[in-house]
Amino acid sequence: MVKPEQWLRSTPRGLLCEPGGFTIDPLSPVDYAVVTHGHGDHARPGNAHVLATPGTIAIMQTRFGEAAGKALQPLAYGESLRIGDVTLCVAPAGHILGSAQAIIEYGGTRVVVSGDYKRRADPTCPPFEVVPCDLFITEATFGLPIFRHPSDRGEIRKLLSSIEIFPERTHLVGTYALGKTQRVLALLREVGWDKPIWLHGALLPLTELYIRMGCNFGELRSATEAAAAEMKGQVVLAPPSAIRDRWSRRMAEPIRAVASGWMAVRARVRQASAELPLVISDHADWDELTLTIRDVGAAQVWVTHGNEEALMHYATGLGIEAKALSLIGYEDEE
Ligand SMILES: [Zn+2]
Ligand SMILES: [Zn+2]
Repeated sequence: MVKPEQWLRSTPRGLLCEPGGFTIDPLSPVDYAVVTHGHGDHARPGNAHVLATPGTIAIMQTRFGEAAGKALQPLAYGESLRIGDVTLCVAPAGHILGSAQAIIEYGGTRVVVSGDYKRRADPTCPPFEVVPCDLFITEATFGLPIFRHPSDRGEIRKLLSSIEIFPERTHLVGTYALGKTQRVLALLREVGWDKPIWLHGALLPLTELYIRMGCNFGELRSATEAAAAEMKGQVVLAPPSAIRDRWSRRMAEPIRAVASGWMAVRARVRQASAELPLVISDHADWDELTLTIRDVGAAQVWVTHGNEEALMHYATGLGIEAKALSLIGYEDEE
C-alpha cells in the first residue's frame, strides 16, 4: 500500500494527484483538471482538459462558454476510468446538479475527495452515496457543533406563512444562481406553492439548464419586465446582491428573505440585510459531517474548506488519523 501523502499533494493550484497527472478543482488553469462541481470556487475557466460529470460540464459551458476548457470529458456517476496507474470514478455528492465525489484508487489505496456535499434529500440532484475508503477528504464549511441545519421544508414554510400574513407585499428571496435557486424552486413546489414564481434575469440561464436536465419547477416568469403590481403577494427570486440594490426598489413593499446555510449566523443575517432569514444549506451540517466520517470508515481523514479544527478533533476521538489540508481560495457560494 502506497501512502496517500506520497502521491496526493496540496499545491498552490489545488490537490494534485501525481500518478494521474490531474489536479482536483484547480484554483488556476492546469493541463488536466478534475472538477467536482460547478460552483465558482471549484470550477474555473481556462483549463486545457476538464474531466467532470455531464451535469458539471453543462454548467461550466453555461457559465464560461468557450473558456470552459479545450477538451471536456464527461464521466457519469458509477463509471470508472483508467488514467495511467490510477483508477478514477465519480459518485453523487448530493450538493447541486452534477456534483460528484472523486474516487481515486492507486497502489492499493482508495481515496475519496468529497467536494462539497450534504446528506439530506434535494429534489434537484441524486443523493450522496457513501463510498467506503482508506482516506476521506472532507469539506468542513459548517464544521462546528453549533451548526445544525433545520428542516428545509420548515424553513420554506416560513416564507409561505409570511405571505399569508402580508398578502400585499412582494417576497423577495436572495438565492445564489447555481443550486440554491433551483432547490428553493423545487421546495416551494413540494410544499404546495402553485402560483408563478418570478426570477431575476441573472437566475434564468442556470435554471433553464436544470429544466433541460429534467427538473420541473412549474410556471416561472421573468421579473425583468414585470410591473410591480403583478408581483404583489408573489415570490421573486434574485441573487442575494440584488435584493437591496436599485433593481429591488420597484417591488411593492418587499419583504427581503435570504436562503443560505449562513443564515444560521446572526452577523451574516445583518450583513445580508435579511428580514426573513431562511436556513437552507447545500452543505453538510455538523451531524451530517460526523455521520459521514463514521459511514465511510476511513483510517485517515483530511479536512478542508472551512472549520477544520473541530472535525479533526472529532475524528481523532474515533481513532482516525486526521489532518487539515489547507487549500486556499475556497469561499463558498452558499
Ligand atoms: Zn459548492
Ligand atoms: Zn465549495
